[in-house]
Amino acid sequence: MKNKFNISKLVRPNVLALKPYSSARDEFKDAARTMTFLDANENPFETNINRYPDPQQHDLKTILAKQKGAAISQILLGNGSDEVLDLIVRAFCEPRQDNVITLPPTYGMYKVLAEINAIENREVLLTKNFEPNVSKILKTQDANSKVLFLCTPNNPTGNVFSKDLIEQLLESFNGLLVIDEAYIDFSETESWLSRLEEFPNLIITQTLSKAYGMAGIRLGICYASTEIISILNKIKPPYNINSLTQVTATQKIRDIKKLNIDKSLILRDKERLKEVLLQLKFIDTVYPSQANFLLVKVDNATKRYEQLLDNGIVVRDRSSQPLCENTLRLTVGTPEENNTLIKILKGIL
Ligand SMILES: *Cc1c(COP(=O)(O)O)cnc(C)c1O
Repeated sequence: MKNKFNISKLVRPNVLALKPYSSARDEFKDAARTMTFLDANENPFETNINRYPDPQQHDLKTILAKQKGAAISQILLGNGSDEVLDLIVRAFCEPRQDNVITLPPTYGMYKVLAEINAIENREVLLTKNFEPNVSKILKTQDANSKVLFLCTPNNPTGNVFSKDLIEQLLESFNGLLVIDEAYIDFSETESWLSRLEEFPNLIITQTLSKAYGMAGIRLGICYASTEIISILNKIKPPYNINSLTQVTATQKIRDIKKLNIDKSLILRDKERLKEVLLQLKFIDTVYPSQANFLLVKVDNATKRYEQLLDNGIVVRDRSSQPLCENTLRLTVGTPEENNTLIKILKGIL
């Protein structure tokens, strides 16, 4: 597809021309001899954290590349996927000139990032079935539409978008398509990572914050063509992933067994919760979910939210989002937490 696709036309001119900050360490870290580093004004006494972290996170990327089947040159890491998303906006969108397209109801951060960077956010609502409205998206785009944000499984609706519709967008959208796969590890569907080579305008973001259980270390992952990654590398802060995060992620990401145990407990309890919720009179709909949360439509979201709060349970009221009137989003907790939730929900009736 897309012989016409030309990444250098999408990049902001100043970013294209930019000479990135380079640390001396970058140039010499692969030297064959053991070097004495007197270049960065660090404290020389060894504590494991007295040196600056590897700006290219080589060890962590090596494991990720192997696990996910990507090349190291197709990976960029961020301080959470929020940093990755921000880098994408800043590399490609010219303030007060370009626009991004988002598909509400969806993750609120895309809009916030557009606003912070003075980029117009064009919103095209999902259809009633929570699918992208392809014809409307294509009508909404213009020459300044640089990025389309698409979240699948979508937050807060929980559904996976149709493969066919995403393919249509990959073929027809003029800018970059960012597929946010924060919840992909809970889903039965395959990641779009396997299609990276096919689509030069595809960017995929994932995170260790959800299924991997490492929200506290802040690690977001971006997969894209080598060309796109090298542009993002130019503007990322040199030491954006700290040493503690690199070490912890490198160790824990190998533990696929823990990932699978946690995942199966969460998915099992999601079904258990769903069955209970469907029996409650004040719950109208439990939407199908391929994530670790359930979106439910209730009779009166404010009232039910307050009742849960009075009982010490915090959920997310999503009613202010379009197509989500009177909805609450419930994260699946530990079996004990879910028991508590069930007991309280039944008591409210
Ligand atoms: C939770 C979430 C993220 C994760 O963001 P991090 O900064 O990596 O913690 C990204 N996208 C969506 C849609 C999310 O729900």
